Amino acid sequence: MASREGIRGRIDAFACELAAELGDVDESLGDCWLDAVENQAVELGDAISAELACQLSRRRSVAAQVPCPQCGAPGRYRGQRSRELIGRRGPLTISEPEYFCPACRRAFFPADGGDRG
Ligand SMILES: [Zn+2]
Repeated sequence: MASREGIRGRIDAFACELAAELGDVDESLGDCWLDAVENQAVELGDAISAELACQLSRRRSVAAQVPCPQCGAPGRYRGQRSRELIGRRGPLTISEPEYFCPACRRAFFPADGGDRG
């Protein structure tokens, strides 16, 4: 895992690249220049947050078997599925593990403790 300073340095470098690429701020995007800057920054921050959640959910380790919530029999890992949900900063598409219970003959998706549907 990267250090906070290392990540902060990469964020600074990425922000410099974005600023250069975006060019002059369109003041019509806010009530004034600073408001337009903040609106653009918040929009980009939300997009980065959503993409980071997507990427991290894909990298999350999964168990080969998880107990079925219906009968308790071991459910087998079947792969990942995409799920759309509403995060703190807007819509997210995450990847989550899908399991199959041979006893119940149904798929299930173990809920995360922080699952918000
Ligand atoms: Zn079952």
